[in-house]
Amino acid sequence: MKRVVIAGAGFSGLSAACYLAKAGYDVVVLEKNDTIGGRARQLKRDGFTFDMGPTFYWMPDIFEKFFADFSHKSSDFYKLVRLDPGYSIFFGKGNSIDVTSNFDELCRQFESRERGSSEFLKKFTEEGEFNYRVAVDKVIYKPGLSPTELVMLETISRSHQFLSSISGGIRRAIKSPELISTLEFPVLFLGAMPQDTPYFYNFMNYADIKLGTWHIEGGFYKLAEAMADIARNLGAEIRCSECITKVEIENKRAKHLTLKSGEVVEFDTILFSSDYHHSELLIDDQYRNYSEDYWRHRVFAPSALMFYVGFSEKLKNLKHHSLFFDTDFNTHAHSIYKDAKWPAKPLFYASFPSMSDGSLAPEGKECGIFLIPVAPGLNDSNIDKGQYLSEILSRIESVTGESVSSKVLFSEAYSVSDFARDYNAYKGNAYGLSNILTQTAFLKPKLYNKKIDNIFYCGQLTVPGPGVPPSLISGKIVSELIIKKKEHGSIV
Ligand SMILES: Cc1cc2nc3c(=O)[nH]c(=O)nc-3n(C[C@H](O)[C@H](O)[C@H](O)COP(=O)(O)OP(=O)(O)OC[C@H]3O[C@@H](n4cnc5c(N)ncnc54)[C@H](O)[C@@H]3O)c2cc1C
Repeated sequence: MKRVVIAGAGFSGLSAACYLAKAGYDVVVLEKNDTIGGRARQLKRDGFTFDMGPTFYWMPDIFEKFFADFSHKSSDFYKLVRLDPGYSIFFGKGNSIDVTSNFDELCRQFESRERGSSEFLKKFTEEGEFNYRVAVDKVIYKPGLSPTELVMLETISRSHQFLSSISGGIRRAIKSPELISTLEFPVLFLGAMPQDTPYFYNFMNYADIKLGTWHIEGGFYKLAEAMADIARNLGAEIRCSECITKVEIENKRAKHLTLKSGEVVEFDTILFSSDYHHSELLIDDQYRNYSEDYWRHRVFAPSALMFYVGFSEKLKNLKHHSLFFDTDFNTHAHSIYKDAKWPAKPLFYASFPSMSDGSLAPEGKECGIFLIPVAPGLNDSNIDKGQYLSEILSRIESVTGESVSSKVLFSEAYSVSDFARDYNAYKGNAYGLSNILTQTAFLKPKLYNKKIDNIFYCGQLTVPGPGVPPSLISGKIVSELIIKKKEHGSIV
């Protein structure tokens, strides 16, 4: 029997379901929530549709690679639109940068702020392109089994780029605080401070500036639906509202699991795509890969305080993706990474997807998604979320001159305890582990259980890391390990 149960129907679980079903496995996906998509679920209210999680579709080539593995293209399932500008960063009144899809125009914006900066931008993105090719073609599809996976001419000759930070490299060449923020922003997706992120990760800048920011018409959830379609067409079964509460191990093999409903499900192999820490709590202590102490000492990417807001009118002075860097970044970052506390004057991200996609809001109205990154593990029971929303709306008003507060029809908040409750996320993390050097590649939590050979793991806490493209890749590489194990009795 080749029956694999996958815990969780987020992108990593759905990806693995596709690959394993294609390889002939009998696949059952069990998802605790009542819809698929994991952190990319949708909230629908009064004719508005909100992507609850990811909104930046970066690295379109990775998505196409995924679809090509199943003889498809993304266009078989959804329409992609390249956004122009990809996003805008607002630094204050009358002070913003549009990260346009026209590179020459971006260079002009750089040059107008600092003479010579466009030369650095060109060099930096060329280097980023080289690193992107190394990362995508040679590194990120590796299973993180051993450090030797990283040993190759291209990485050895760039070892200095792993040992120096991206922030240092940018700040040596650029002095304008706005340009520094613009170039440091992409690595925030990796869930760590630019000062703690290796320079090599400037491939994120190439992905951002050259490959562009895309939008799926109908929202990110269309990707989850597409993946579920592929998995089902290959024979996988996907069952929602099925929470796994215990996995039993007998004679050094995981045998069966129990659902919240009391149903017992048998399997040959179990793959946890649910958050790693929670997954391990489902098996007895002595079989876990990692102790509580291990998790306490990991550096987690931020959690978030989010708002999903319906506006009564279209908004004019904002962009589909708008970043508000109008307060001090270091003070906010300190409250996330160094001294965990609720930020006083946070930077925030605002997205108005209905500006490019009329299907997401009723005619003449706008949907807004707001995200304030915060430290994981914060207690959100006593904070005044409404006050945070009022503050960021009034900052939008003073920076853009546009009245927004008076147009709010409704708002829903989502925060640390919601992540913990809805996704069993350790400390309510939103994006998994920070991609700092000591938590990269073979140093990440393993894809396989070291003691029980029919338990595997995938998802944003494993290789290659946080984000939707890495989650798709993680589902692929863990499937390859499961297949290897089945066919050759070993994962190496
Ligand atoms: C607010 C936010 C914004 C983001 N923005 C972006 C972005 O713009 N671009 C980008 O690329 N990435 C972004 N990300 C990151 C990206 O969304 C994630 O990295 C990715 O979706 C993680 O997928 P996953 O499969 O690893 O985990 P998940 O999506 O969390 O899937 C795991 C699933 O397991 C289920 N589960 C948990 N416990 C159990 C159980 N006991 N039994 C059964 N099922 C269980 C959960 O309900 C969940 O559905 C964002 C994330 C968040 C939260």
